[in-house]
Amino acid sequence: MIIASAKKFFIRIVEMSGIHVTMIVLTFLFISAFSFFDYDTEPKPLHHSEANNNIEHVVLITIDGLRWQELFYGADSLLIGHEDYVRNAEQLREDFWHDNSVERRKKLLPFFWNTIAVDGQIYGNRKLGNNMDLTNEYRFSYPGYSELLVGYADPNMDSNAKRWNPNVTVLEFIHNQPGFEGRVAAFASWDVFPWIINSERSGIPVNAGFDPFEGENLSDRQLLLNDMLRQIPRPWSSVRHNAFTFHYAMEYLKLNHPRLIYLAFDETDEFAHSGNFQDYLYSARQFDAFVEEFWLTLQNDERFRDKTALVIATDHGRGTDPLDHWRHHGANIDGAEEVWMAVIGPGIPALGEVSEPMQLYQNQIAATVAALLGITYESDLPIGSKLDLGSH
Ligand SMILES: [Zn+2]
Repeated sequence: MIIASAKKFFIRIVEMSGIHVTMIVLTFLFISAFSFFDYDTEPKPLHHSEANNNIEHVVLITIDGLRWQELFYGADSLLIGHEDYVRNAEQLREDFWHDNSVERRKKLLPFFWNTIAVDGQIYGNRKLGNNMDLTNEYRFSYPGYSELLVGYADPNMDSNAKRWNPNVTVLEFIHNQPGFEGRVAAFASWDVFPWIINSERSGIPVNAGFDPFEGENLSDRQLLLNDMLRQIPRPWSSVRHNAFTFHYAMEYLKLNHPRLIYLAFDETDEFAHSGNFQDYLYSARQFDAFVEEFWLTLQNDERFRDKTALVIATDHGRGTDPLDHWRHHGANIDGAEEVWMAVIGPGIPALGEVSEPMQLYQNQIAATVAALLGITYESDLPIGSKLDLGSH
């Protein structure tokens, strides 16, 4: 099995343009000799020597309802020229199409495929048997984010209504650890996040939706963002443009140097629901650019350089069959339970696109985020085990 997947992997990297090819192959062959994933369901205590000791900061990033199909294979051939979903097929093809899917996905998400796939890890390519699924049965946003952040699916959280989450998230758990108080913050395009994170109980600042950034002595940039947020027409009733989320978070990063910061992007889900494949793609590409700019900013700041990890995920998948189901998700949409995850940071082995067959779950992200910071995440209810990212 290892030989077969190594061969597949090799063929795929040969298709990549590649100065790093030799390095990747050697790394892959080395790592293949070890099992790098815990199949246990019981959370295990984290011995300090197991932690990625260099990591002092984590940036958690989500993008709402971006399918693994686009992540791993780029623009969908059945949708890119579809007159129901696309305004300017010619331009869209020019921007996103390539017959080779490895090149195609790079056109959509260049940072993922030129950087994370080289120096980090990407999980969820189901065509390789690398599966990641939701455990919540609802397959929409609040339950998806709650499962991701809490570490288990609470069947009572069954709507997107603004209800205070009774479950403690890993953000809140970490915020309560020594050295983390006041060092955790969240920025979200969707206005329900203060409830999901329960900002009232947790004390974590959550800037979301159309709420201006609040605080004393705001910077010129924060004041400008607040003005523009109020002045620009609202694209959706509960979701702001991702550029606000990005720039608010970026400014917070520079001014407050948080230990754990969460950026929750949207747009993609809204464009998909309205059947706008064109802007779904442009928004996905801009999301990739935001992640890259955040990463480069971290690497150019000595407070963060070489001691910060990124964890990137989504809240749910979308359908594929019938074709129109790309717009939808939910309990009755096949494929909406299919998700993915990416991670990059110091001490995290460069496995690239993980091609080993395995089954991962959304409820494992919370413990993984905590483990990167050397913290064992615990809860009253059983949580998904941290992923072993291959550090041993
Ligand atoms: Zn969603």
